[in-house]
Amino acid sequence: MSRYVISLGGNALGNNAEEQKKLLQYVAHAIYPLIEMNHDIVIVHGNGPQVGMINLAFQESRSTPLMPFAECGAMSQGYIGYHIQNAIQNEMSKHHIKRSISTIVTQVLVDENDPAFKHPSKPIGQFYSKEDALKLEKEQGYQMMEDAGRGYRRIIASPKPIDIIEKESIKTLLSHKEIVIAAGGGGIPVIEKEGYLYGIDAVIDKDFASAKMAEIVGADELFILTAVDHVFINYNTPEQKALSHVTIKELEEYLKESHFKKGSMLPKIEACMAFVKATGRPAVIAGLEKAIDAFKGTCGTKILP
Ligand code: ADP
Ligand code: MG
Repeated sequence: MSRYVISLGGNALGNNAEEQKKLLQYVAHAIYPLIEMNHDIVIVHGNGPQVGMINLAFQESRSTPLMPFAECGAMSQGYIGYHIQNAIQNEMSKHHIKRSISTIVTQVLVDENDPAFKHPSKPIGQFYSKEDALKLEKEQGYQMMEDAGRGYRRIIASPKPIDIIEKESIKTLLSHKEIVIAAGGGGIPVIEKEGYLYGIDAVIDKDFASAKMAEIVGADELFILTAVDHVFINYNTPEQKALSHVTIKELEEYLKESHFKKGSMLPKIEACMAFVKATGRPAVIAGLEKAIDAFKGTCGTKILP
């Protein structure tokens, strides 16, 4: 029996609730063999577009009060978690298998002195005119940035996860063979001050959060499922080459040569390297569509010590 952390990227969730429900049927089908073999499973998922939609809905509504970003993240964990639970329960029913599955609304600790707070980088929410953007900077203390010629948006920090507040609940559920969905969207970012926790407006990268989860629950292997079947070097060039196995040392060389794009593949590589270095266990980056093969070890890029 092994323990796995499985991280689902944006392509597992689609663009709206209906699409999400449909796509997750495939996810459930792909994960099912591991469930049947009675492995321990934690599922982490992204929430970029989903939390954006929730945030926007509150911003545009005239009849509801504004909702802080951390609360929007909590809502996204709830509704995505519901869809994943439902899809996996239905897949198990098809095979007449019963295991409990639940979602943990998860807070993730970050350091308020994380350098990321000095350089916010993640655009969130709606677009504003320059005039309105300046007004928000003055009145709300937001940091605003021009986003690719489309207008001004609020930008928030993306600090590194340092601990998972609900880790004992997650471990207890796992020890009872329950399947757990946790740290959705990278978790709800909280800081600690004199023993108290406070939610803050920030986004934690879900790749880093899943690596932290894998380390904390003692996973035997971390699987990051995304839109490409492998990690490539010289990606999108005629010299493109898929990697099937790669060591930390080799990756350090590739990092120097900038083979991985910031904001997409780079955080996955860095997160996997952190897990492999901390534990000596492997991490795999693979395509969601080939997830079944990735679990068998016949597809994807395996990162080794
Ligand atoms: P997710 O939602 O799963 O986090 P991302 O879009 O953030 O997905 O990251 C996956 C994307 O990274 C791939 O679809 C691919 O376009 C891009 N990418 C950038 N550099 C590479 C690379 N060297 N090898 C493979 N994919 C890469
Ligand atoms: Mg991503």
